[in-house]
Amino acid sequence: MIHSLPIQKNPDLLVFVPLLFTVWSDAVLTPTEINALHSLIKKQDWLREEEREFLIEQLNPSHPPSAEDLKSWLQEIRKVDVSHATNLAAVGSALVANSVGVVRQEAQKALNGVEETLGLIPQEVVFSFYPESRKSLTQGQVTQHNFDVELLAKQLDGSHANLIAKVKKILSDPEFAYIDTDNLTEQREKVLMWAKHLAKQGFGSIAYPKIYGGADDMAAYFTIMETLSYHDLSLVVKFGVQFGLWGMSVYFLGTEKHHQKYLKDIGTLALPGCFAMTETNHGSNVRGIETTATYNHQQKTFTIHTPNVNAQKEYIGNAALHGEMATVFAKLIIDGKDYGVSAFIVALRDKQGNILPGITIEDCGRKMGLNGVDNGKISFNMVVIPKENMLDRFASVNEEGNFTSPISSDNRRFFTMLGTLVGGRIGIPRSALAATKSALTIAIRYGDKRRQFGPEGAEEVPILNYRTHQRRLMPLLANAYAMHFSLQYLTDRFIKRTEEEMQEIEALAAGLKAFATWTNTQTLQECRECCGGKGYLSENRIDALKNDSDIYTTFEGDNTVLMQLVAKSRLTEFKQEFSNMNVFRILNYVADQAKTSLSEMNPFVIRNTDDEHLLDPEFHISAFRFRERDILTSAAKRLKRHLDSGMDSFDAFNVCQHHLVEVGFAYVERIILEQFQLAVEQTKDEGCKKVLSKLCALFALSQFDKHKGWYLENGYMEGVKTKAIRKQLNQLCWEVRQDAVPLTDAFKIPEACLSAPIARRG
Ligand SMILES: Cc1cc2nc3c(=O)[nH]c(=O)nc-3n(C[C@H](O)[C@H](O)[C@H](O)COP(=O)(O)OP(=O)(O)OC[C@H]3O[C@@H](n4cnc5c(N)ncnc54)[C@H](O)[C@@H]3O)c2cc1C
Repeated sequence: MIHSLPIQKNPDLLVFVPLLFTVWSDAVLTPTEINALHSLIKKQDWLREEEREFLIEQLNPSHPPSAEDLKSWLQEIRKVDVSHATNLAAVGSALVANSVGVVRQEAQKALNGVEETLGLIPQEVVFSFYPESRKSLTQGQVTQHNFDVELLAKQLDGSHANLIAKVKKILSDPEFAYIDTDNLTEQREKVLMWAKHLAKQGFGSIAYPKIYGGADDMAAYFTIMETLSYHDLSLVVKFGVQFGLWGMSVYFLGTEKHHQKYLKDIGTLALPGCFAMTETNHGSNVRGIETTATYNHQQKTFTIHTPNVNAQKEYIGNAALHGEMATVFAKLIIDGKDYGVSAFIVALRDKQGNILPGITIEDCGRKMGLNGVDNGKISFNMVVIPKENMLDRFASVNEEGNFTSPISSDNRRFFTMLGTLVGGRIGIPRSALAATKSALTIAIRYGDKRRQFGPEGAEEVPILNYRTHQRRLMPLLANAYAMHFSLQYLTDRFIKRTEEEMQEIEALAAGLKAFATWTNTQTLQECRECCGGKGYLSENRIDALKNDSDIYTTFEGDNTVLMQLVAKSRLTEFKQEFSNMNVFRILNYVADQAKTSLSEMNPFVIRNTDDEHLLDPEFHISAFRFRERDILTSAAKRLKRHLDSGMDSFDAFNVCQHHLVEVGFAYVERIILEQFQLAVEQTKDEGCKKVLSKLCALFALSQFDKHKGWYLENGYMEGVKTKAIRKQLNQLCWEVRQDAVPLTDAFKIPEACLSAPIARRG
C-alpha cells in the first residue's frame, strides 16, 4: 500500500497510513468503525475520487492487510521523528513532511478528532508506534530504601532482641529443617524432638520461677512463642500445650506443693502433659462440662469419671501419644452436691507410654493442619486420684471434707480461674502475627519481582505496581505493624498487671486474639491469591501457614464468642462508669459529649476533604473513639429498652448479638490505633518515623473505608469525605509500595524458616 501508485502520485495520502495501521493492528474492524471511517474519507473533498476509493478499499474487511504489510507500514512510520506528536494527525503529517517536505493544510486537518470518533486515546496511539519511548508511572515504581531497616528491626524486637536472635539461630540449624512427609508418626516424632531441643535450651521453663529451673520471665515466653511461629506451627502448638497450657495450669491453678512436684519436669519436658478442658458436647460453654470429680472423704481421693460418650475430652493436644499426665477440668461433687468446675491432675500413661487402667484414649487422627501435634480424645472410667491432685488455688476440700474457697461467688470463682489462663490468648495472637508476617514477606517479595503485562511493546511491570495488588497487600501490611504494637502493649499490660486491672486485660486479650487471628486468616488467603498459582504450591509455605493457623480463630476461645465477652466487659465498665459518677460529673460528661459532637460533626468537618485533615492522626483517633463510644452507648440503650419491655435477658442479648460483636471490634480497633500512634510518636529515627506514620495512617484510613457505611449512617462523614478517604487510601498504598519490601525485611524472618522459592532474593 505504502509504495502503491496512488501514494506515489499523491504523497499526501501518507497522512492516512498511521490511522490505517492503528485500526488494523487490533485485527478486527467493526461495522461501526468502518462506517465512521468511510464517512471521514468521503468528506475529504481535497482528494480525487479514485484516491478516496483507494483509501476505502484499504478498509475492506475481505482484503485485510497481511502481517507483512502491517510491519512495513510500521517501519515507514518509525522512520520519522514523532517524539512530540500527540495524536494521529500529527504522526500522519510528519510522515508526509518526511516524504515531500511540506504538508498541505487539508492533509494536516484530515484526521483531526478521529481518535474521539473511534474511541481511542490519542497519546496511547502514538505510544503504539514508539513503545520504547513510553514512560508510564506504573512502570517506574521500584523498591526504595528510604529508612534504616536495621533500626526498624531493632525497634520491633525491643528488649528481647538477644533472645529473639538466639531462637532464630536455633530455628536455622539443619536439625530444624522442615520435613516433607505425610506420615503422621514421623511428623509427630520430629515435632517432639524439636520441642525437646528447645526445652534443653531452657525455653520451655523460662516463665516459671527460678527455683523450678525457670527464669521468671513471662514476657520472654511470649516472645519465644512468637519467634518460633516463623517455623512449623505444629512445633509452636506442641510447645504451647506443654509449657503453656499444661505447665501454666499447674502454675496458676495449683499451689506450692504442685509447683514443687511437677514444674521442673514439665519445663524440661521430662513430664509431657495435656490440658483437658473441652468435651465433645461442650467447647465454648466450659461451664457445661459433664466430667465429674467426686470426693471420697474416707479415702481422701477423687474419682474422675466420664458419664457419657459426649462428655469425653476431645481435641486434647499431647493426648494421642505423648502425654503422661493431664490437667483435667471436671465438676467437683462433694456429698452429691455440685460445686462447679475445678481442675485436677490425672495420670494418663506410665513412663513406658502404657495407658493406665480406667483411661481410654483415642487418636483424633489427621486434621486440616497442625498434624505434628497428637490430639486425642480421653475418657475416664472411675479413675481414682489422691486428694492432693486437686489444683487448689481457688477451691479446695478441707480436712473436714468440706468445700472451701477464697472466692465465695461461684460465678466469680469460675471466671477468676479461667482468667488466670489468659496467657494463651496472648501467645496465640502473637503466633498468628508471625504467620501473617511470613505470608506478607513471601507475597510482597514475589510481587516485587514477578512481572505480568505492561504497556504495549514495553517491558512487563512488577505485579506489586498494580493498584489492586497494592490495595490488597498494603493495608494488610499496615495491619501487621498495627498488631505488632498492640500485642506488645497487651503483653506489657499482662506482665505488669494488678488484680484490679485483670478484667480489663482479659477483655483486651480476648479482643486482640480475635482480631489478630481473623486478620491472619484473611491475610493468608489474600497472600495466597496474590502469589497466583505459585502461592498454591506447598513448597512456597503459604499452604502450611494457612492450614496450620486456621484453627487459631477457634481454639483458645472461639472468636465470635470472645467478641461477646469483650462486649459484656465493656458494658459492665460503662455501667460502672455511670454509676460511679455523681450528678455533677454526669452533667459534665453529657456536656463533653455534646461538645465533641459539635466539634466533630459540624457540616464543615463531616465534608472536610483536605489532605491535611484526612491524614491527621487527631482526626483518626477521634473518629475511632466516636465510633467506639457511639456503638457502646447504643448497645447499652438497646439492651435496656428490651429488658425494660420485659424481654428475657438471654433473648435481649441474643437480639443484640451483632451489635455486641461490633462493640468488641470498635473497642479493639481503637486500642490498636492508639498503640500504633504511640509507637510512631516514640520513634526517634526520622526515616523510620516517616514510614511508620504512613503505615499508621493507612491502617486508620483502611478501617474508615471498611466502616464507611457506619460513618455515613451515623452522619459522621458525608459521601464526599468517604470518597476522598478512598482516594487518599489508594494514594497511601501507592506510596507505601516502594517501602514494602524493606518493611517486611524489618521482620527479620530467618531465610531457613521462609524457605519459599518465590521469596528468594535475586
Ligand atoms: C486442633 C485443636 C486443638 C485443640 N486443643 C485443645 C486442647 O489442648 N485442650 C482443650 O481443652 N481443647 C482443645 N481444643 C478445643 C477448642 O478449644 C474448642 O474447639 C473451642 O473452644 C471451640 O469449641 P467447639 O469446637 O465445641 O465449638 P462450639 O462451641 O460448638 O462452636 C461452634 C460454632 O458455634 C458458635 N457459637 C458457639 N456459642 C455461641 C454463642 N453463644 N453465640 C454465637 N455463636 C456461638 C461459634 O462461634 C462457632 O462458630 C482444640 C481444638 C482443636 C480443633
